[in-house]
Amino acid sequence: MYKTIEDEVLKKSAPAELKAEFLQHEFDRLHTFCVLIYIASIVVWVAYDLILSFIGGQPFTWRSLVFFGVFTILVIILLFIRDARHFQKLNLLFVLTIAFGTRLLIEGLGNDHQPAWLLLAASTTLFTASVLPLSRWSFFAAQLVTWWFLNPFYNTGIEQFELGGVMALSYTTFICGLTLYSFLTLHKAKLNNFIMSRLLLDQAYIDTLTEIPNRRSFMTRASLQLNSVPRENDHYLAMIDIDNFKKVNDVYGHDIGDEVLKRIAQDIKSVTAHHEYARLGGEEFAIYLAGVSREDVETLAGDLCRVVREQPTRHPVTISIGLARVLDGDTLNQALIKADAALYESKHTGKDRYTFHQ
Ligand code: GH3
Ligand code: MG
Ligand code: MG
Repeated sequence: MYKTIEDEVLKKSAPAELKAEFLQHEFDRLHTFCVLIYIASIVVWVAYDLILSFIGGQPFTWRSLVFFGVFTILVIILLFIRDARHFQKLNLLFVLTIAFGTRLLIEGLGNDHQPAWLLLAASTTLFTASVLPLSRWSFFAAQLVTWWFLNPFYNTGIEQFELGGVMALSYTTFICGLTLYSFLTLHKAKLNNFIMSRLLLDQAYIDTLTEIPNRRSFMTRASLQLNSVPRENDHYLAMIDIDNFKKVNDVYGHDIGDEVLKRIAQDIKSVTAHHEYARLGGEEFAIYLAGVSREDVETLAGDLCRVVREQPTRHPVTISIGLARVLDGDTLNQALIKADAALYESKHTGKDRYTFHQ
Protein backbone atom coordinates (compact mmCIF):
# COMPACT_ATOMS: atom_id res chain seq x y z
CA MET A 1 0.00 0.00 0.00
CA TYR A 2 2.75 2.46 1.01
CA LYS A 3 4.63 1.78 -2.20
CA THR A 4 1.56 2.58 -4.33
CA ILE A 5 0.96 5.83 -2.46
CA GLU A 6 4.65 6.75 -2.65
CA ASP A 7 4.71 6.03 -6.39
CA GLU A 8 1.63 8.22 -6.88
CA VAL A 9 3.20 11.10 -4.96
CA LEU A 10 6.56 10.87 -6.71
CA LYS A 11 5.02 10.54 -10.19
CA LYS A 12 4.39 14.30 -10.26
CA SER A 13 7.48 16.31 -11.04
CA ALA A 14 8.62 18.50 -8.16
CA PRO A 15 8.00 22.25 -8.63
CA ALA A 16 11.05 24.52 -8.83
CA GLU A 17 10.45 26.04 -5.36
CA LEU A 18 10.42 22.59 -3.78
CA LYS A 19 13.70 21.72 -5.50
CA ALA A 20 15.22 24.97 -4.26
CA GLU A 21 13.95 24.22 -0.76
CA PHE A 22 15.50 20.75 -0.98
CA LEU A 23 18.86 22.15 -2.00
CA GLN A 24 18.78 24.66 0.85
CA HIS A 25 17.78 21.93 3.31
CA GLU A 26 20.66 19.72 2.15
CA PHE A 27 23.13 22.58 2.37
CA ASP A 28 21.95 23.51 5.89
CA ARG A 29 22.38 19.92 7.02
CA LEU A 30 25.75 19.45 5.33
CA HIS A 31 27.36 22.84 5.92
CA THR A 32 29.98 21.49 8.35
CA PHE A 33 30.56 18.50 6.08
CA CYS A 34 31.24 20.86 3.14
CA VAL A 35 33.79 22.78 5.22
CA LEU A 36 35.50 19.50 6.16
CA ILE A 37 35.54 18.34 2.53
CA TYR A 38 37.14 21.63 1.46
CA ILE A 39 39.78 21.36 4.17
CA ALA A 40 40.45 17.72 3.23
CA SER A 41 40.75 18.74 -0.45
CA ILE A 42 43.31 21.39 0.48
CA VAL A 43 45.26 18.87 2.56
CA VAL A 44 45.27 16.46 -0.42
CA TRP A 45 46.38 19.28 -2.74
CA VAL A 46 49.23 20.23 -0.39
CA ALA A 47 50.20 16.53 -0.18
CA TYR A 48 50.28 16.41 -4.02
CA ASP A 49 52.37 19.56 -4.00
CA LEU A 50 54.85 18.14 -1.49
CA ILE A 51 55.10 14.78 -3.27
CA LEU A 52 55.67 16.47 -6.62
CA SER A 53 58.12 18.94 -5.10
CA PHE A 54 60.27 16.42 -3.30
CA ILE A 55 59.91 13.22 -5.29
CA GLY A 56 59.11 14.95 -8.59
CA GLY A 57 62.07 17.25 -8.19
CA GLN A 58 60.20 20.56 -8.60
CA PRO A 59 60.96 23.49 -6.36
CA PHE A 60 58.22 24.57 -3.94
CA THR A 61 57.41 28.03 -5.33
CA TRP A 62 55.53 31.17 -4.34
CA ARG A 63 52.72 29.98 -6.62
CA SER A 64 51.96 27.19 -4.16
CA LEU A 65 51.55 29.78 -1.42
CA VAL A 66 49.25 31.89 -3.61
CA PHE A 67 47.04 28.88 -4.32
CA PHE A 68 47.05 27.92 -0.65
CA GLY A 69 45.99 31.49 0.21
CA VAL A 70 43.14 31.42 -2.34
CA PHE A 71 41.88 28.05 -1.04
CA THR A 72 41.94 29.35 2.52
CA ILE A 73 39.93 32.45 1.50
CA LEU A 74 37.36 30.21 -0.21
CA VAL A 75 37.03 28.10 2.96
CA ILE A 76 36.55 31.26 5.03
CA ILE A 77 33.85 32.44 2.60
CA LEU A 78 32.19 29.03 2.88
CA LEU A 79 32.10 29.38 6.67
CA PHE A 80 29.94 32.50 6.25
CA ILE A 81 27.74 31.34 3.38
CA ARG A 82 24.22 30.32 4.36
CA ASP A 83 22.45 30.44 0.99
CA ALA A 84 22.68 27.20 -1.04
CA ARG A 85 22.63 29.16 -4.32
CA HIS A 86 25.80 31.01 -3.35
CA PHE A 87 27.44 27.70 -2.46
CA GLN A 88 26.87 26.42 -6.01
CA LYS A 89 28.93 29.30 -7.41
CA LEU A 90 31.57 29.16 -4.69
CA ASN A 91 32.03 25.44 -5.28
CA LEU A 92 32.59 26.03 -8.97
CA LEU A 93 35.26 28.56 -8.10
CA PHE A 94 36.84 26.09 -5.67
CA VAL A 95 36.89 23.28 -8.26
CA LEU A 96 38.30 25.70 -10.82
CA THR A 97 41.18 26.89 -8.61
CA ILE A 98 42.01 23.44 -7.30
CA ALA A 99 41.97 21.91 -10.81
CA PHE A 100 44.07 24.78 -12.20
CA GLY A 101 46.53 24.57 -9.29
CA THR A 102 46.85 20.82 -9.76
CA ARG A 103 47.41 21.21 -13.50
CA LEU A 104 50.28 23.63 -12.85
CA LEU A 105 51.82 21.17 -10.39
CA ILE A 106 51.55 18.26 -12.79
CA GLU A 107 52.91 20.23 -15.73
CA GLY A 108 56.26 20.33 -13.95
CA LEU A 109 56.53 16.55 -14.23
CA GLY A 110 57.94 14.61 -17.11
CA ASN A 111 55.48 13.67 -19.89
CA ASP A 112 55.43 10.01 -18.93
CA HIS A 113 53.91 10.68 -15.53
CA GLN A 114 51.44 13.39 -16.42
CA PRO A 115 48.39 11.42 -17.69
CA ALA A 116 48.28 9.14 -14.64
CA TRP A 117 48.54 12.06 -12.20
CA LEU A 118 45.92 14.05 -14.12
CA LEU A 119 43.51 11.12 -14.04
CA LEU A 120 44.12 10.60 -10.34
CA ALA A 121 43.48 14.30 -9.64
CA ALA A 122 40.36 14.43 -11.85
CA SER A 123 38.81 11.35 -10.26
CA THR A 124 39.54 12.64 -6.72
CA THR A 125 37.94 16.00 -7.56
CA LEU A 126 34.86 14.47 -9.16
CA PHE A 127 34.23 11.87 -6.46
CA THR A 128 34.52 14.60 -3.86
CA ALA A 129 32.17 16.93 -5.75
CA SER A 130 29.61 14.14 -6.18
CA VAL A 131 28.97 13.94 -2.41
CA LEU A 132 28.46 17.68 -1.94
CA PRO A 133 24.97 19.26 -1.88
CA LEU A 134 25.14 20.50 -5.47
CA SER A 135 22.41 21.24 -7.97
CA ARG A 136 22.63 19.41 -11.29
CA TRP A 137 23.91 22.40 -13.26
CA SER A 138 26.58 22.99 -10.68
CA PHE A 139 27.77 19.39 -10.79
CA PHE A 140 27.77 19.33 -14.62
CA ALA A 141 29.75 22.57 -14.59
CA ALA A 142 32.20 21.03 -12.09
CA GLN A 143 32.68 18.11 -14.50
CA LEU A 144 33.40 20.45 -17.39
CA VAL A 145 35.85 22.57 -15.40
CA THR A 146 37.62 19.48 -14.04
CA TRP A 147 38.12 17.87 -17.44
CA TRP A 148 39.05 21.21 -18.99
CA PHE A 149 41.96 21.70 -16.62
CA LEU A 150 42.86 18.08 -15.95
CA ASN A 151 42.40 16.74 -19.49
CA PRO A 152 44.97 13.90 -19.68
CA PHE A 153 45.35 14.38 -23.47
CA TYR A 154 46.10 18.08 -23.50
CA ASN A 155 49.78 18.86 -23.84
CA THR A 156 50.89 15.54 -22.39
CA GLY A 157 52.16 13.95 -25.56
CA ILE A 158 50.07 10.79 -25.39
CA GLU A 159 48.32 9.49 -28.46
CA GLN A 160 44.73 8.40 -28.10
CA PHE A 161 45.22 5.16 -29.99
CA GLU A 162 48.34 3.87 -28.36
CA LEU A 163 48.24 1.70 -25.24
CA GLY A 164 48.59 4.56 -22.71
CA GLY A 165 46.07 6.68 -24.63
CA VAL A 166 43.43 3.94 -24.77
CA MET A 167 43.89 3.33 -21.05
CA ALA A 168 43.48 7.06 -20.30
CA LEU A 169 40.44 7.33 -22.56
CA SER A 170 38.75 4.28 -20.97
CA TYR A 171 39.44 5.53 -17.47
CA THR A 172 38.21 9.05 -18.30
CA THR A 173 34.97 7.64 -19.72
CA PHE A 174 34.57 5.34 -16.72
CA ILE A 175 35.11 8.08 -14.10
CA CYS A 176 32.97 10.57 -15.96
CA GLY A 177 30.09 8.06 -16.35
CA LEU A 178 30.36 6.68 -12.84
CA THR A 179 30.42 10.04 -11.06
CA LEU A 180 27.58 11.42 -13.22
CA TYR A 181 25.47 8.31 -12.70
CA SER A 182 26.03 8.11 -8.95
CA PHE A 183 25.46 11.85 -8.51
CA LEU A 184 22.19 11.83 -10.48
CA THR A 185 20.89 8.64 -8.83
CA LEU A 186 21.68 9.86 -5.31
CA HIS A 187 20.32 13.32 -6.10
CA LYS A 188 17.01 11.82 -7.23
CA ALA A 189 16.78 9.46 -4.24
CA LYS A 190 17.49 12.28 -1.78
CA LEU A 191 15.00 14.60 -3.51
CA ASN A 192 12.31 11.88 -3.36
CA ASN A 193 12.98 11.31 0.34
CA PHE A 194 12.74 15.03 0.95
CA ILE A 195 9.41 15.26 -0.89
CA MET A 196 7.98 12.30 1.02
CA SER A 197 9.13 13.50 4.43
CA ARG A 198 7.88 17.03 3.70
CA LEU A 199 4.47 15.62 2.74
CA LEU A 200 4.29 13.43 5.85
CA LEU A 201 5.34 16.31 8.12
CA ASP A 202 2.70 18.54 6.51
CA GLN A 203 0.06 15.89 7.08
CA ALA A 204 1.18 15.32 10.67
CA TYR A 205 1.36 18.99 11.63
CA ILE A 206 -1.20 20.81 9.46
CA ASP A 207 -4.94 20.54 10.03
CA THR A 208 -6.46 19.08 6.86
CA LEU A 209 -9.70 21.08 6.89
CA THR A 210 -8.52 24.57 7.81
CA GLU A 211 -4.91 24.25 6.59
CA ILE A 212 -3.54 25.95 9.71
CA PRO A 213 -1.27 24.20 12.27
CA ASN A 214 -2.91 21.46 14.35
CA ARG A 215 -2.74 20.54 18.04
CA ARG A 216 0.47 18.50 17.64
CA SER A 217 2.21 21.44 15.98
CA PHE A 218 0.88 23.85 18.63
CA MET A 219 2.04 21.72 21.56
CA THR A 220 5.54 21.50 20.10
CA ARG A 221 5.95 25.12 19.03
CA ALA A 222 4.18 26.77 21.95
CA SER A 223 6.21 24.61 24.41
CA LEU A 224 9.36 25.79 22.67
CA GLN A 225 8.30 29.43 23.07
CA LEU A 226 7.27 28.82 26.67
CA ASN A 227 10.72 27.45 27.47
CA SER A 228 12.91 29.65 25.31
CA VAL A 229 11.49 33.14 24.85
CA PRO A 230 12.80 35.35 27.70
CA ARG A 231 10.15 36.73 30.03
CA GLU A 232 10.91 40.44 29.84
CA ASN A 233 7.31 40.70 28.73
CA ASP A 234 4.58 38.28 29.68
CA HIS A 235 3.36 35.23 27.86
CA TYR A 236 -0.36 34.62 27.38
CA LEU A 237 -2.41 31.75 26.09
CA ALA A 238 -5.75 32.22 24.34
CA MET A 239 -8.39 29.54 23.84
CA ILE A 240 -11.07 30.28 21.27
CA ASP A 241 -14.39 28.50 20.77
CA ILE A 242 -17.08 29.29 18.20
CA ASP A 243 -20.40 30.26 19.78
CA ASN A 244 -23.46 28.08 19.14
CA PHE A 245 -21.65 26.18 16.47
CA LYS A 246 -23.94 23.16 16.80
CA LYS A 247 -26.74 25.40 15.54
CA VAL A 248 -24.72 26.31 12.43
CA ASN A 249 -24.38 22.62 11.63
CA ASP A 250 -28.01 21.90 12.43
CA VAL A 251 -29.46 24.82 10.47
CA TYR A 252 -27.13 25.04 7.45
CA GLY A 253 -25.56 21.59 7.37
CA HIS A 254 -22.13 20.19 8.10
CA ASP A 255 -20.57 21.51 4.88
CA ILE A 256 -21.41 25.09 5.76
CA GLY A 257 -20.12 24.34 9.28
CA ASP A 258 -16.82 23.36 7.67
CA GLU A 259 -16.76 26.58 5.63
CA VAL A 260 -17.30 28.58 8.82
CA LEU A 261 -14.39 26.74 10.48
CA LYS A 262 -12.12 27.59 7.54
CA ARG A 263 -13.20 31.23 7.68
CA ILE A 264 -12.52 31.52 11.41
CA ALA A 265 -9.10 29.89 10.90
CA GLN A 266 -8.26 32.56 8.29
CA ASP A 267 -9.48 35.32 10.62
CA ILE A 268 -7.22 34.01 13.39
CA LYS A 269 -4.33 33.78 10.94
CA SER A 270 -4.84 37.34 9.72
CA VAL A 271 -5.13 38.86 13.19
CA THR A 272 -2.33 36.87 14.88
CA ALA A 273 0.07 36.27 12.00
CA HIS A 274 3.30 36.41 14.01
CA HIS A 275 2.16 34.34 17.00
CA GLU A 276 1.75 30.57 17.24
CA TYR A 277 -1.85 29.58 16.51
CA ALA A 278 -3.62 26.32 15.78
CA ARG A 279 -6.88 24.46 15.50
CA LEU A 280 -6.84 22.28 18.60
CA GLY A 281 -9.76 20.16 17.41
CA GLY A 282 -13.49 20.50 16.66
CA GLU A 283 -14.30 24.21 16.70
CA GLU A 284 -11.62 25.13 19.22
CA PHE A 285 -8.51 27.14 18.43
CA ALA A 286 -5.57 28.43 20.48
CA ILE A 287 -2.99 31.19 20.24
CA TYR A 288 0.28 31.43 22.18
CA LEU A 289 1.35 35.02 22.68
CA ALA A 290 4.98 35.33 23.74
CA GLY A 291 6.54 38.60 24.90
CA VAL A 292 3.37 40.74 25.02
CA SER A 293 1.73 43.10 27.49
CA ARG A 294 -1.78 42.73 28.86
CA GLU A 295 -2.84 45.69 26.68
CA ASP A 296 -1.50 43.94 23.56
CA VAL A 297 -3.51 40.84 24.46
CA GLU A 298 -6.68 42.87 25.07
CA THR A 299 -6.28 44.63 21.72
CA LEU A 300 -5.69 41.38 19.89
CA ALA A 301 -8.60 39.54 21.54
CA GLY A 302 -10.93 42.51 20.97
CA ASP A 303 -9.85 42.75 17.31
CA LEU A 304 -10.36 39.03 16.76
CA CYS A 305 -13.89 39.05 18.23
CA ARG A 306 -14.74 42.09 16.11
CA VAL A 307 -13.28 40.72 12.87
CA VAL A 308 -15.26 37.48 13.24
CA ARG A 309 -18.46 39.26 14.28
CA GLU A 310 -18.30 41.82 11.46
CA GLN A 311 -17.35 39.41 8.69
CA PRO A 312 -19.74 40.09 5.79
CA THR A 313 -21.13 36.59 5.22
CA ARG A 314 -24.40 34.69 4.87
CA HIS A 315 -23.51 32.58 7.90
CA PRO A 316 -22.39 34.95 10.64
CA VAL A 317 -21.00 33.59 13.90
CA THR A 318 -19.26 34.93 16.97
CA ILE A 319 -16.46 33.55 19.10
CA SER A 320 -15.61 33.47 22.79
CA ILE A 321 -12.05 33.71 24.06
CA GLY A 322 -10.44 32.66 27.34
CA LEU A 323 -7.08 34.24 28.23
CA ALA A 324 -4.53 33.09 30.76
CA ARG A 325 -1.18 34.61 31.68
CA VAL A 326 1.48 31.92 31.63
CA LEU A 327 3.20 32.06 35.01
CA ASP A 328 6.81 31.06 35.64
CA GLY A 329 6.80 27.34 36.24
CA ASP A 330 3.49 26.76 34.40
CA THR A 331 3.46 23.93 31.89
CA LEU A 332 1.62 24.38 28.62
CA ASN A 333 -1.10 21.99 29.82
CA GLN A 334 -1.60 23.99 33.04
CA ALA A 335 -1.90 27.18 30.97
CA LEU A 336 -4.40 25.49 28.66
CA ILE A 337 -6.55 24.47 31.65
CA LYS A 338 -6.55 28.07 32.94
CA ALA A 339 -7.41 29.48 29.52
CA ASP A 340 -10.20 26.91 29.23
CA ALA A 341 -11.61 28.00 32.59
CA ALA A 342 -11.55 31.62 31.35
CA LEU A 343 -13.28 30.54 28.13
CA TYR A 344 -16.00 28.92 30.26
CA GLU A 345 -16.45 32.32 31.95
CA SER A 346 -16.84 34.02 28.57
CA LYS A 347 -19.48 31.48 27.56
CA HIS A 348 -21.40 31.96 30.80
CA THR A 349 -21.38 35.72 30.78
CA GLY A 350 -22.95 36.14 27.35
CA LYS A 351 -20.44 34.86 24.69
CA ASP A 352 -18.85 36.99 21.91
CA ARG A 353 -16.23 38.31 24.36
CA TYR A 354 -12.90 37.65 25.99
CA THR A 355 -12.20 36.99 29.66
CA PHE A 356 -8.91 36.82 31.59
CA HIS A 357 -8.34 33.98 34.00
CA GLN A 358 -8.41 35.35 37.55
P1 GH3 B 1 -21.03 26.94 22.70
O1 GH3 B 1 -21.42 28.31 22.26
O2 GH3 B 1 -21.30 26.71 24.13
O3 GH3 B 1 -19.64 26.61 22.32
O4 GH3 B 1 -22.00 25.97 21.92
P2 GH3 B 1 -21.64 25.05 20.72
O5 GH3 B 1 -22.91 24.77 19.98
O6 GH3 B 1 -20.57 25.65 19.86
O7 GH3 B 1 -21.20 23.78 21.47
P3 GH3 B 1 -19.89 22.99 21.31
O8 GH3 B 1 -18.73 23.90 21.40
O9 GH3 B 1 -19.93 21.85 22.25
O10 GH3 B 1 -20.07 22.44 19.81
C1 GH3 B 1 -19.14 21.74 19.16
C2 GH3 B 1 -19.73 21.35 17.83
O11 GH3 B 1 -18.76 21.47 16.82
C3 GH3 B 1 -20.17 19.93 17.83
C4 GH3 B 1 -19.71 19.36 16.53
O12 GH3 B 1 -20.77 18.93 15.76
C5 GH3 B 1 -19.09 20.56 15.81
N1 GH3 B 1 -17.90 20.17 15.11
C6 GH3 B 1 -16.76 19.71 15.64
N2 GH3 B 1 -15.86 19.49 14.66
C7 GH3 B 1 -16.45 19.83 13.49
C8 GH3 B 1 -16.05 19.82 12.13
O13 GH3 B 1 -14.91 19.47 11.78
N3 GH3 B 1 -16.91 20.26 11.19
C9 GH3 B 1 -18.16 20.70 11.55
N4 GH3 B 1 -18.97 21.11 10.57
N5 GH3 B 1 -18.56 20.68 12.81
C10 GH3 B 1 -17.75 20.27 13.79
MG1 MG C 1 -16.46 23.55 21.77
MG1 MG D 1 -18.67 26.12 20.58
